[in-house]
Parts: sequence; structure tokens; C-alpha cells
Amino acid sequence: MNAPLPLTDTQLREVQALDAAHFLHPFTDHQALARRGARLITHAHGVHIWDARGQRIIDAMSGLWCVNVGYGRQALADAAYRQMMTLPYYNAFFQTTTEPAVRLAARLCELAPPVGGRAFTHVFFTSSGSEANDTNVRLVRRYWDLMGQPQRKIIISRRNAYHGSTVAAASLSGMAAMHAQGDLPIPGIVHIEQPHYWALRHEGETPADFGRRAARWLEDKILELGPERVAAFIGEPVQGAGGVIIPPETYWPEIQRIVERYGILFISDEVICAFGRLGHWFAYERFGTQPDLVTFAKGVTSGYVPLGGVLVNERIARVLIERGGEFNHGYTYSGHPVACAVALANLDILEAEALPQRVRDDTGPYLARRFAELTDHPLVGVAESCGFVAGLMLVRDKATLQPWPEAWEVGMICRAHCFDSGVVMRAVGDRMIIAPPLVMTRADIDAMIACIRTALDKTWAEVQQKAAA
Ligand code: PMP
Repeated sequence: MNAPLPLTDTQLREVQALDAAHFLHPFTDHQALARRGARLITHAHGVHIWDARGQRIIDAMSGLWCVNVGYGRQALADAAYRQMMTLPYYNAFFQTTTEPAVRLAARLCELAPPVGGRAFTHVFFTSSGSEANDTNVRLVRRYWDLMGQPQRKIIISRRNAYHGSTVAAASLSGMAAMHAQGDLPIPGIVHIEQPHYWALRHEGETPADFGRRAARWLEDKILELGPERVAAFIGEPVQGAGGVIIPPETYWPEIQRIVERYGILFISDEVICAFGRLGHWFAYERFGTQPDLVTFAKGVTSGYVPLGGVLVNERIARVLIERGGEFNHGYTYSGHPVACAVALANLDILEAEALPQRVRDDTGPYLARRFAELTDHPLVGVAESCGFVAGLMLVRDKATLQPWPEAWEVGMICRAHCFDSGVVMRAVGDRMIIAPPLVMTRADIDAMIACIRTALDKTWAEVQQKAAA
């Protein structure tokens, strides 16, 4: 690893000034960031990142839910280098193909277990999760056109879902703040309520009962719209950006029953949840659902280079191929050979180190145990996890789960203390969430929990002061 020396204050300020002058960061209040100056990350290794001041920080978010095999993997750099020297780019538009794309498509289809007697036979490649979900919108509408049911256009998604930020993917997303900017959603995309037990449970309702009730919101919506107008349902197995919302175990089986009953397509958006994150290669294995389309990105390359795509089952692929003629959709980088070569090397690592199985059988249960211990902290109302995603709910009153005043931004206070305490956590409102690299050992988990505890203590001290003021 090339570990750069820490920057002097002058050097750091120069980069921060250029950053503020020229770089429009994603999902950022640019004025506020310019005032504060961005934290400059300089290098990374294993489960750690370093900032320009030389502080080592445990990356409990795997970058942005993506660095599944950890940082600094030579094999991925070698794969990219070899492919760049052999064939850095070629397209797949005009009856041409490249071997990494072919091999990766075949390997993904082999890795994805068949569901409902149907295999995943094909892959459409993109460079991101957003593009992959845009592809899904095109694919499902194309499918129903070819099936002679062009009136089936509507895609049902959920509030507080995240499916990306392009116009179609942001429409599929259920984020009110995104929809408010740019007249979204586009027509033909509607939302039902999310399966968020802690936010939406009735008094005395069990998680199991809530899960079934939440799934039936899908049935209600299908009946309201008319089943003959509904093309597909899309959902994240565990909502990630929405705050690691883990649905009760009763939710997905009921959703599966409903999509089958009305014959609508089921898109499992596994951009976060696939490639071992929930202890399986694919999250539909964890929940026993039977999707027709599976969105992937992030973990397929562990984020080393951009790549995304859609796994397509034979029900859809056959119609598209046998009846379709030309499908007028694609990207310059669909099947980019360097990205696909890196993905193949990444899958080799996941397989050789048995990372999905390790998360399922060893480190996932260990993380669940250590994370649950945090409920003894006065700030923590709920601590829950599923594989290698986890969330803490910070509350004012543990008994009633009464929240802190929104304006206090307790989650943001905690996020800042996390950085200072040597761990990256993300705040979604007052939910503190993590998605650690799958290579984390039990010792790494212990170190991470210790940092989180320190950050919680500092946050607690700060909010106590605020409450007393
Ligand atoms: N779907 C899900 C479930 C995601 O979490 C994300 C990104 N966080 C996306 C889609 C969009 O992916 P990208 O940012 O690569 O466009």
C-alpha cells in the first residue's frame, strides 16, 4: 500500500478550498460543506480508512455499502491492470462481445439459485444501481408489451425506499425530499407504506402481525389500481439508505403470495443486500422470495470500479429474446470489460474466503450479539441487525422509545462523534447504521463496538448538556 504522509494544515486547506470551489458533492448542502471543509480521505487498507490528518478510522459503512472484500486487495488491482493492457474497452452494441462480460454473466447466473423452478439465465449490465433500476423500468414495460398487455405499466414501490437517483430510479425511490425536487415520481410509479415496525406498529401489535399487515398494503394497492394495470413490485430485501429497516419475518412470504396471486413481476433490489451482505450470495435466498429480476451493483466489484446490472429470469428473458426484436436500451459501458474482469476477481475472493457463509454462520451472529449489547446504553432504544447490516435507534426515553426533537439532530451529533472516536457510522435521522466489510473478524467487530460505545457516551454527554440548558 502507498500510505501518503499526513497533510499539513496548509496543504489540507488548499484541497478543501478546491473542493468547495469545483466539486459538487452528491446529496450535499454545498454551502454548509464549504463552510466546514470536507474530510479528506487519503488511503485505506483492510477495514480501515485514513484521513489527511493521519487518523485511522474503522470503516463500518464499507465506503457506501460496497467494499465487501475490504480495501487494498491486490488481486483486484491486478485484474484491472491485466484487462486494461489487453482490452481496456470494447462495446457490446454491434454484434460484438468481450470475454470478461460473457464469463461474468454466466458466473452470476450460475451463482444465483433458481426460484420457483425458474433459472436466472441472463444479465443486463450497467455501471450503477440507478441505471440498473432504470433498466428494470424499461424491461418490465417491454415484457408486458410483448405479452400483449401494454396496459400493465404501473410499478409499485414503497415509501422510504431507495432505488437510485436518476429520474426513473429516484421515482422508484420513496424519498419525499428527492421527489420534492424535480416533480417526481414520473407517471406510472406509485408507493405503498414501508414495513417499518418501530414507526408504524399499532399498540400491542407483534412484529409477525405487523409484517403480514404491512404486506397486505401491496394487495390493497393492486386492487385499488386494478391488477390488470400493475406491471411489477420493487423492494429492497432490507431497506438500506432508508435506515436499515429490517422487515419482520412474516413480511416477504406474504408479499410473495401476493405477487404470485396477481401475476405481477417481482424486482428484488439487492444493490446493497447481495454478495454476502445478508449471509448469502443473494438476499432472496435469505428471505425465500422468488424474484423475476434482481438488481445488483456495489458488492459485485466491492466498489473498486463501477458496475451494476440486472439478473433476468427465464420467464422474462425468453419473451424478450423470442418475441422481442430489438430492445432499444443500453449504455456505452454495458459489460465494460475492465469492470467485469474486476468483478470476476472479486467473486473469486468472496468464494475462496467463503465470505457469505462466514457472515451467515460466524461473524454475522457474532455482530448481532455484540450489537444487541448496545441496548444497555441510555441513548439506545433498539439495536437490530441482519447479516452485516445493522441499525441503532437513538431515543430520549428507552421505555417508550420517545424520539429526540428533530431539530436537535442527535443522529448528526452522534455521526460526528463516531468519526472522532475512530469509526464511520451513517445517520439516517436518529437511526445510526452500519454495513461493515465482510472481511471483518471478531476482533475487528470488538474494536468497532468499542468505538461506537465511546461515540455514544460522547453523544449522551452532549445531549444531556443540551437538555439541561
Ligand atoms: N438500489 C439500492 C438498494 C441502493 O442502495 C442504491 C445505492 N445506495 C441504488 C439502488 C443506487 O445505486 P447507485 O448509487 O450505484 O446508482
